[in-house]
Amino acid sequence: MKDMNDLKPVKGIEKWAHDQFSRVIIFYKRHGVYATCHCSECGGYYQIRTRTTGDPFEDDLANIEKPIRDEETKCRLCKRDAIFKPAGCFKGEWRDCNIVTGQKIDDNRFVFRVFYATQKIYKDCRTAYSCNEYKRIFTESRKKPVRYYNQCGHWMKTSIGDNYRYLVHPSTFKEIKKTGMYKYVPYCKEVAEQYYGESWVMDYYIAAARYPDMEMIVKTGMIYLASALVAKNPVNFNPRGREIHNRLRIQKERVPYLVKEQGNNMLMRLFQFEKKADRHWTDEELEIVKELFKHIYTDIFTELIRYINPVRMKNYMSKCGIWYDEERMSYGQANKIRREYFDYLKMRADAGYDLTNDIIMYPNDIVRRHAEMVIESEKKELDKRMKNVINRFPWISRDYRKLSEKYSAAAAGYIIRPAKDAAEIVMEGRLLHHCVGASDTYMKRHNKGESFILFLRKASEPDIPFITVEIEGESIIQWYGAYDKKPEESFFDAWLKTYTGELVKRKEEKKDKKAAKTA
Ligand SMILES: [Zn+2]
Repeated sequence: MKDMNDLKPVKGIEKWAHDQFSRVIIFYKRHGVYATCHCSECGGYYQIRTRTTGDPFEDDLANIEKPIRDEETKCRLCKRDAIFKPAGCFKGEWRDCNIVTGQKIDDNRFVFRVFYATQKIYKDCRTAYSCNEYKRIFTESRKKPVRYYNQCGHWMKTSIGDNYRYLVHPSTFKEIKKTGMYKYVPYCKEVAEQYYGESWVMDYYIAAARYPDMEMIVKTGMIYLASALVAKNPVNFNPRGREIHNRLRIQKERVPYLVKEQGNNMLMRLFQFEKKADRHWTDEELEIVKELFKHIYTDIFTELIRYINPVRMKNYMSKCGIWYDEERMSYGQANKIRREYFDYLKMRADAGYDLTNDIIMYPNDIVRRHAEMVIESEKKELDKRMKNVINRFPWISRDYRKLSEKYSAAAAGYIIRPAKDAAEIVMEGRLLHHCVGASDTYMKRHNKGESFILFLRKASEPDIPFITVEIEGESIIQWYGAYDKKPEESFFDAWLKTYTGELVKRKEEKKDKKAAKTA
């Protein structure tokens, strides 16, 4: 690294910084037909006549000007454009900006120097300007940039913060042109000025030093890829690659496609997956994979892509009504099953199942298989939790028979019954993704007999959790299906109303029987 003190001074930087602030104020104070003016920039004072004398000849000589707050004027002494402000109520003004300038060190090294410039306008004295260098970024061909910050006159690597808006000093471009490693890197406006105008110029050339590929990437028009490099998004270059497809870790025949799509990042990552999985997707397959990639979490996608036969998967998902353009199901419903499907595949992969087996990859009943996999993959952890709750809330199972007599019922293709034990409540919560089994609250109440957890299920699938109900006596406290949603809300509201009515009737019959016995 070149010695910090060896850097040439930046010629004219203070003057240039000063010129970036165009604000000049003429403060005025009226007295009679005159006003005294004070220029914030040159500091001079002068008087103007503010009202007509009635004599056209005199008026012309007096050069009448009426000062009005915020109106434009010109200083009569230094001739700068300015605006009027009444001197009385002015509290002071403050502006600042960051300026970046670049210098060539040698053909493979370059330094960006960042200045902080301020303008402070006070009343009754001249405007104060400052311009201090606070950051230096050293770039070197194929290396990470090194940043130094000015901490009370010492250059340290500890950051004092970075800014995102910079003005670029024009000499920077001349210096870049002189530097060997930048010689062939075209200035790509679309990339270098993508955010905040020219502010990205520095980041653009920092990236261009670190990644010599920038030249080729920009020249072929892969601007999204260039932007990713500038924005420090992960690109995953192969450091030992020579040709572009090796560098990018994609198949050679994919380069023209990627160029056509201007280096689209998603596409590049897909092509990287394709190569890694040693696949050669057809156009049809690629369209399907793109759609999948848009919707599946990257870590799941990464794991599954090796096994996916895109056309087969699309057909399968269409058949299940969960392909992305399907309208057979509501979006929420399709999305839920889709999520469970990929969740299921991930669990299968994690558990070491053979995903080349179609029976595993394309199951008959996603919801059921997902439920089974949830049970299997969380079994250990679940076992522990279930043992724990069974010990802590023993009355749930002890009271089951009694509660079942009171609460079990069946009607219209549905059954309802109390939980057999605490473990069942935990499982219900897991499978339906709601909170009934996650916290101890409901089990505690059930155990104490304050309120009870009931399971409402399809009579045809009595083992599959569907709706969870909390009941106190004969009144429903709350009910929820999967993900805290209420499926067919009005139907089940009515169903539960009939049910609680039935419970009240049962209770009264029991009372009557008792009364008859004792009588
Ligand atoms: Zn002036």
